[in-house]
Amino acid sequence: MTSPSQISVVRRGLMLVLSSPSGAGKSTLAQMLLREHPEMHLSVSVTTRERRPSEIEGIHYQFIKRERFEKMRDAGDLLESAEVHGNFYGTPREAVENALAAGKDVLFDIDYQGTLQLYEKMRSDIVGVFILPPSAGELKTRLERRAEDASGVIEKRLKNARTEIAHWREYDYVLVNEDLNATFINLQAILAAERLRRERQLGLPPIVERLDQELATLTS
Ligand code: GDP
Ligand code: ADP
Ligand code: 5GP
Repeated sequence: MTSPSQISVVRRGLMLVLSSPSGAGKSTLAQMLLREHPEMHLSVSVTTRERRPSEIEGIHYQFIKRERFEKMRDAGDLLESAEVHGNFYGTPREAVENALAAGKDVLFDIDYQGTLQLYEKMRSDIVGVFILPPSAGELKTRLERRAEDASGVIEKRLKNARTEIAHWREYDYVLVNEDLNATFINLQAILAAERLRRERQLGLPPIVERLDQELATLTS
């Protein structure tokens, strides 16, 4: 389902943030969203984690060494950063700023620590979406079925799931990802509604003013 857009109204870009415990499905939903909405910009994070077999450098992450990460963070090149599951992750600032300046909506796949840092900087631009798995058993099954992490890593991610889930109240929307297609439809509904928020539609005042003048002429 592609939602219709009001392209005639100039709009302020929004920042769509997806967070969830590992394995709940946020990367899958992010990829579906980008396929359906190629006009969106995905923020590609830097990380010190090992690359998974299916991941491509520069597409899923920019894989960097710890020293480079610290240099970027200390130089202020990261909009936010956090340690997650024993690895460091961060959002490169420049790409996000360029995309927003070009009027694009930006998609983030980041944890709750990163989301809180973004909230502090630009709360009104952010739409926070938290994704829950339908059950703990299903979360474990998905991590195992994905088969991209060693068993010790899966255990660590399951342990950390409780900490991540504890932050669900800090998000604007919560989706329980049981049926993937149903979740995706709801995610697109959130995007469509948030794009139409009055305060994001910067081009509305002249349109309303013109309407008012037309009505005045019509009824005089
Ligand atoms: P300039 O003064 O013309 O260069 O404009 P800015 O660089 O300040 O902003 C350009 C565009 O980016 C405008 O449409 C802004 O609304 C948008 N923009 C700037 N900063 C942000 C931000 O932090 N979040 C979002 N969503 N949009 C931004
Ligand atoms: P995350 O990015 O949150 O760690 P992924 O998007 O990698 O999670 O999803 C974990 C695994 O679960 C993947 O193998 C994915 O295909 C699968 N998955 C995602 N959503 C669903 C769903 N609703 N039902 C069944 N499997 C799903
Ligand atoms: P994964 O290793 O499964 O790709 O990601 C692990 C966790 O780190 C996920 O919760 C993911 O959302 C988060 N993450 C990925 N990139 C970033 C980032 O740039 N910043 C923050 N804060 N978290 C990130």
